[in-house]
Amino acid sequence: MHPNHPKTWSFRKQLRILILIALFSIMGCGIFGAWRLQQLIFSQITIQQSSQALQQNLHSNFEKTRLIGEIHTQLRLYMQSGSTDNLNLIHKYSEELRHKLSTIEKKTLELFLETIDTLEVRMKSLDQNTKKIIQTEKVLINTTEQLMDISSKEGKIIWPLVIGTYLQHHQLYVTSITTNQIDTLIHTQQDATEIFTTLDSQLTTLGQTLNSGQRVFIEKLKTTNYELNETVQTITSIRIITLETQHKIEQFLEALNSEITQDSLSKNAEAAALMGTSQRMARINLLFMSASLIGSAFMFALIAFFLNQRMIKPLVGFVELLRRMTKLLAGLRGQQVAEDDNLIQLSKMASSRRDELGEAALAVQVLITRLRELSLFRQTIEADESTKDIYARLAQIFEHKLGLERFVIWEQSDEQSAAMAAVYCNPHELAEELPELAIAEHCRAKRTGLMTSSLETPFICKQYPFTDTMDHICIPMLVGGHIIGVVQFLFSLDLPEEVQHLKNMAVEEARCYIAEALPILQTKHFAKKLEEMATKDPLTGLYNRRYLDSMIEQFVEGTIRRKSKIGVLMCDIDHFKRVNDLFGHDTGDFILVQLAQMILNCIRKADLVIRFGGEEFLILLPDCGESCAATMAERIRSIIETRKIHAPNRTLQQTISIGVAEFSYTSTKTIWEIIKLADIALYQAKSNGRNQILICQDDTVQQETEHIS
Ligand code: GH3
Ligand code: MG
Ligand code: MG
Repeated sequence: MHPNHPKTWSFRKQLRILILIALFSIMGCGIFGAWRLQQLIFSQITIQQSSQALQQNLHSNFEKTRLIGEIHTQLRLYMQSGSTDNLNLIHKYSEELRHKLSTIEKKTLELFLETIDTLEVRMKSLDQNTKKIIQTEKVLINTTEQLMDISSKEGKIIWPLVIGTYLQHHQLYVTSITTNQIDTLIHTQQDATEIFTTLDSQLTTLGQTLNSGQRVFIEKLKTTNYELNETVQTITSIRIITLETQHKIEQFLEALNSEITQDSLSKNAEAAALMGTSQRMARINLLFMSASLIGSAFMFALIAFFLNQRMIKPLVGFVELLRRMTKLLAGLRGQQVAEDDNLIQLSKMASSRRDELGEAALAVQVLITRLRELSLFRQTIEADESTKDIYARLAQIFEHKLGLERFVIWEQSDEQSAAMAAVYCNPHELAEELPELAIAEHCRAKRTGLMTSSLETPFICKQYPFTDTMDHICIPMLVGGHIIGVVQFLFSLDLPEEVQHLKNMAVEEARCYIAEALPILQTKHFAKKLEEMATKDPLTGLYNRRYLDSMIEQFVEGTIRRKSKIGVLMCDIDHFKRVNDLFGHDTGDFILVQLAQMILNCIRKADLVIRFGGEEFLILLPDCGESCAATMAERIRSIIETRKIHAPNRTLQQTISIGVAEFSYTSTKTIWEIIKLADIALYQAKSNGRNQILICQDDTVQQETEHIS
């Protein structure tokens, strides 16, 4: 028996694990890929936003710088012209700029505007002082002219002084309003003081020489000179302050510009950094996405490889193996199956694999081994001589191979007989307990042609005698629609369930062997039948003369070897012709059959009855001398004489005459001569009045021989 192969890695389990791995890996790769795709999209959005921010920043920066440039230009123009138009434009551009600035920048702008207001005040003051200086210069000229009108002499002295001072002052004034150098302005102030002091001292000196009327003008000139100097000093001071304010304003503008540039630069740097990071992230995400795609492709390839290696390839191989095996099986009946490569391959597959393939390979291996065994069994029994030998071989397999210790093989004696006899018993002692099965049809398995089991249906067969001690499974031997016998397996009633299960399986296997044996059994039966047809009389079932011819020599040889004797009885039914004449041929036949049966019932198993002629029977009694033969003859005669024969419609009685002779191993006569002697004795018995036996005496024989001759 083959060990039960444990199936630990079934295809279903392998596939389930494979699908799970595939599902998880694809899901993992998918989720990872999707996450990375999302990250990539985010990165791209960030890049786009950063780029837009960069553009906006550049544009805004450009606008701010442009406005600051405009303000700067207008400031310079304003400084030169003092025009309110320029001032208005400064305010307008500043207002535009305010909307574009950050809170800190706005504060700088506020400071700038406050300083512009201060500048405006200074510029207005400068304007007023300019007017004042022009008036003062006029006064100076007028006063000088007035003095010249009074005194042309002093006038001629004063004029160049005053005009010179006037021109110098004017020069200083022009310088103070045109220069943008604070140093120059400070020098201008000093120069103005010197000019003033020079003229003042000259006027003082001159005034001492003049009269009081003229001195009034001198004093006026001195005062005007003083005012002129004061105004120049004021203007110069204002200019200094204005320049300082302008510087401050320019510093504010520069600061603003620098802040804007700084802000723009930092924003640009921020956007550029973000863009760079996003681009790096995008590259990484793209890399990861590709990796996840490659990963899932690799997983697919791995799964496909595993599927191919573990399932598809072995399956294809197994199918190919099965194909070859099928071919092999087709030829199994006719030839011996060798342990070829295919079987070895199959065995390897069965032992190495732990899945359905291993299971199938094991099943095929078991099947082929069984078929091989069955084939061998068949080949063996084909060469067996008789059905008995086949039964013995079957019994051997039942007992030693399948572990079925108790069984009986029943066989129907012959077609005419209604009885079924046990032809093989295991153990042999069982035969003593077996009942006679006079009517085979009472056996359920024989009658129905179906397997009959008391395990499935208790008390199923009425005929079964061991219901108290044993269960039975009866398998009918069905050949060509005819049941030739029954194989009965017996089991103890108290077998454990597992053991009984094993026994049932063994019975199932036994059925295969029985099925395999059946055609051979049938052939043997046919052969036996043919032999019987050739050697037996069809009416009485007794051996015919042909059989006698074929076996007599062997029979005699055995007797001589054993140094024994053969009793020879020649029997003839008395007045049989009358039976035929009176009751017809059929009744005659019936009586013949009945008498033959009566003779058979009288003799031993080893004795031989031959239908020698129409109503003559030759009986050969091995190991039986003259007296033994005479006793047997008398027994036959007396039984026939007394037994009533119930023929159809009537009851009859017959008698028989018997001639007795003896063949001894010492005899000089042949068996045929002895048979002849018995016949002569029979003839004598007929002559003596029939219904008697007559022992052949040599003198009788002599007499009779002479009489016949
Ligand atoms: P005897 O006592 O002298 O032997 O008289 P008998 O009438 O028996 O002898 P006989 O030899 O005159 O007749 C033999 C008869 O047996 C003749 C034949 O009709 C009959 N017989 C032989 N064989 C058969 C058979 O197979 N069936 C039937 N019904 N009759 C048979
Ligand atoms: Mg006769
Ligand atoms: Mg006769």
